Amino acid sequence: MAFRKNNVDLICSIGELAGMFERTSSLPDFLGTVVSVVAYHMNAAVCSIYLWDDEAGELVLRANQGLNAEYIGKLRLKSGQGLVGMALKQLRPINAGAAASSPGFAAIPGLDEERFQSLLAVPILRGLNRVGVLVVQDPQQDYFSEHDIKALQAIGAQLATTIENAKLLMNLYREVEQEEKERKAAKMPSLFKGAGVSNGRALGKANVLGGLDAFLQLTQEVGGARVSEQNGEAQDFEHALTRSLAQLETLQNDFDEHHGDVASLIFSAQLLMLKDSQFSGAMRNRIETGMRPAEAVVQVVNEYIQVFSRSKNPRLQEKAQDVKDLGHRILLNLGHGETEQADYEGEILITGELLPSDIVKFSAERASGLVMVGGGSSSHVSILARSLDLPMIVLNDDRALNIQQGTRLLMDVDHGNLFVEPDEELLAKHREVLEAEKSAAELAAAVRPCTETGSGERVVLLANINLLSELRLAQRFKAEGIGLYRSEFPFIVRSEFPSEEEQYRIYRTVIERMEGHPVTLRTLDVGGDKMLSYFPMVSKENPFLGLRAIRFTLRHRDIFEDQLRAMLRAGVGADLRIMFPMISSLDDYQLAAQVVHDCCEDLARRGVLHHPNPMIGAMVETPSAVEIAPELSHEADFLCVGTNDLVQYVLAVDRTNESVSHMYLPYHPSVLRSLRRIVEAANQFQTPLSICGQMASDERMLPFLLGIGVRTLSMDTRMIPKIQAALATLHIDEARTLAAEMLARPRIVDIEELLGIRKEANA
Ligand code: PEP
Ligand code: MG
Repeated sequence: MAFRKNNVDLICSIGELAGMFERTSSLPDFLGTVVSVVAYHMNAAVCSIYLWDDEAGELVLRANQGLNAEYIGKLRLKSGQGLVGMALKQLRPINAGAAASSPGFAAIPGLDEERFQSLLAVPILRGLNRVGVLVVQDPQQDYFSEHDIKALQAIGAQLATTIENAKLLMNLYREVEQEEKERKAAKMPSLFKGAGVSNGRALGKANVLGGLDAFLQLTQEVGGARVSEQNGEAQDFEHALTRSLAQLETLQNDFDEHHGDVASLIFSAQLLMLKDSQFSGAMRNRIETGMRPAEAVVQVVNEYIQVFSRSKNPRLQEKAQDVKDLGHRILLNLGHGETEQADYEGEILITGELLPSDIVKFSAERASGLVMVGGGSSSHVSILARSLDLPMIVLNDDRALNIQQGTRLLMDVDHGNLFVEPDEELLAKHREVLEAEKSAAELAAAVRPCTETGSGERVVLLANINLLSELRLAQRFKAEGIGLYRSEFPFIVRSEFPSEEEQYRIYRTVIERMEGHPVTLRTLDVGGDKMLSYFPMVSKENPFLGLRAIRFTLRHRDIFEDQLRAMLRAGVGADLRIMFPMISSLDDYQLAAQVVHDCCEDLARRGVLHHPNPMIGAMVETPSAVEIAPELSHEADFLCVGTNDLVQYVLAVDRTNESVSHMYLPYHPSVLRSLRRIVEAANQFQTPLSICGQMASDERMLPFLLGIGVRTLSMDTRMIPKIQAALATLHIDEARTLAAEMLARPRIVDIEELLGIRKEANA
C-alpha cells in the first residue's frame, strides 16, 4: 500500500500549490482544498487541519476530509489533549499505528474516529509560532511509515506560511465582523450635542460621506432601491448618463451665475469624468458582459475612488469625493427613471474634514444640512455655511459617523443639537418653529430705509458680505451700504489665486449692485485659520499670531498690489473705502496706505481708469491697535472695529476653540473698556467709526454700543431686520446709563447680572 503514496511529488509541485489558490473562493475553501490535496498524495482516508487559536489557547478544526463535516469550526482541543493536541504540545510528529489504543488517545463523541487505526499528526510551525496541526488518518493499522512522517513534515513546512496567512486573515475577518456587530449593537444616542456654526434647522435623511466603505454602504441602497435588485438594461444606463450630464451642466451654469465669485467650474471634474470614455467605457464593458448597470457603476466608481485616494497628490485625493458624488448621481438616475433631481436634496450629510469648496458644492447640490465630525470649525467654514444659509453643526463624537444611512435626523443649529430619529413631539416643535419664522419677503416688507433708536438717534446699518449671492438680501433689507466685504472668500474657495481681472469683476459687481451706497472692501485676510491650499503658508503653532491679514499682504506685495489695483479700478465713480485687517502698528497702516497711493499712481501713469482717492481705513482688532487708537484715528480716514478678533486677542481666547468658548465673552470688562477707548479716540478726531464684528448684531450689546457713542453698525445681512426692530425700542439715556454702569464693574458676573445673563455652567 505504501507504494501508492505520492507525497514526494506534492512537496515539489509549485503548480499544484498555485492551483489550490485558483480553485479557492474563500479561506475555508482554500483550507478545504489543501486537505483534499494532502489526503490524495498521502493516499489517506482522512486529512484535517487544526489551527491554533491564540486567544482561546485551543486548537480548532478548520478543515477536514473524511470525518463528520459538522465538526469543522466546532471541534476544539487543548494543547496536549488527545494525540493531535500532544503533537502541538510536544512540537513533534505523533505517529500512532493503532491510535485508539495508544496512550493519550481521547475519543471525541460522535466523531467516530475509532474506525481509523492509523493517525499521523505533525505540528505546523512558523519559526517559533504555533500555527496548527496537520493530521492524516487511515483505517489500516500501522499505515504511515517513517518516510510518510518526513513527507508530512515537509508538506507542513511548505504550507506553513500560507496557512498562517489564511489563519491571520480569518482572524482579521472575525475581528471586523465583531467590530461591525459591536458597532451595530452600540446604542446610537438620540441626541448629539455639538456646536452650531451657522443658523437654522433641517430635517432630512442621514448620508454619511466617509471613505470607500461608506460609498459601498451608501450604494447598497440608493434612491430607495437596493443596488443588487436594480435590474436595468444597457439603455437605462445610457439614459442615466445623459440625464446626469444634463443635470451637471445645469448645476454648473446655475452655480457660476450665483457663486462665480468663489469658484468657477466647480463641477468640471465630474463633467470631465462623465465625458471620459474610459470611465463610462469601463462601465459599459461590464454591462456588455452581463453585469447589472448599477453594479457596474458601483464597481467602476469604487476603483476610481481607490485610485484617487491612493494618490500622493492632495489635489487628486480631493477628487475622490467628486467620483463619489458622480457615482451617487448616476445611481440615482438609474434608480428613478424620470427624476429631474439627483442631488443631496432632503439629505443631511455627515462627514469628516471639509474643504471650503465642499461646503459651496454641497450647498449647490441642495444638501439640507451638514454635520462635520471631528476637525475644529474654522471661522471661514462657519462664515461660509452661514452665508450660504446651510445649517451646519460640528460634532466631536465619532459615533455620528456610524449613523445608519437613511436614518431620519433633525438639526437645530442654534442649539447645536442633532437629533437621531426624532420623536413626534420634537417634529411637531420643529414644524411650529418653522411656521413662526417669518419669510425673507415678510421681513423685507417691514424694514425701513432709515434706522433710528426709540429716542430718535440716527443709526446706520450696513451689511457684511462674504459672497456675491448675499448682495440681493442686502438690497432687500435696505442696507445703507457694505461695511465689510470679506475679500478672502474667492481666494479661499478657489484652487488658485484669482487674477486681477477676476477680482476686478467681483468687486465691480459689489459696487454696481449697491447703487451708489458706500462699499468698504477689506483687503485679503488670510492666515490664522484661513489657509490657501495652493500657496505655501508657513503654518506654525499659533497661526492667529502669525503672518495673517495685513502682515501677509505686506510680505507678499505682488498679491497685495494685484488686489488693490482691482479694487481701485472697480471703484470708479463709487463711494469706495479700502480697509486693512489686523493693523497692529501705525507703521503697518502707513506702509499699507502708501501701497494704495503707489497703485493709484501706477494706474494713473498707465492711463487706467480708477478711483483716485478712496477712503482708507484701519480695522481695530488687536490690543496694540487699541493702544494707538488716537494716532490711528488721526491718520486713517475711518476705523472699523473687528470685535470677533478684538475679543479673541484682548482675552487671549481662540475664537475657534470650543474648549474655551465659555471664556469668549464680548461683555468682558477688558473688552468694554477697549471699546470705549477706541470710540473716544475716533470721536476726538471726528473719524468715522463702525463696528463690524458679531457684536454689532448682538442684541444684548446694543445699549452698550449706542451708550458709548457708536452710530454705525455693520452686520450679517440676515440680522438687519431684527436689529432695526431692537433699536426702535432703545432709549439713548437708558443706554448711556447702562453703558456707564457696565464700565464701572470690574467683574464679569456683575456685568452679566446687569445684562440679565444667567449662565448655565461656567465650564
Ligand atoms: C472681526 O474680526 O470682527 C471681523 C469682522 O473680521 P473677521 O471675522 O473676518 O475676522
Ligand atoms: Mg477680524
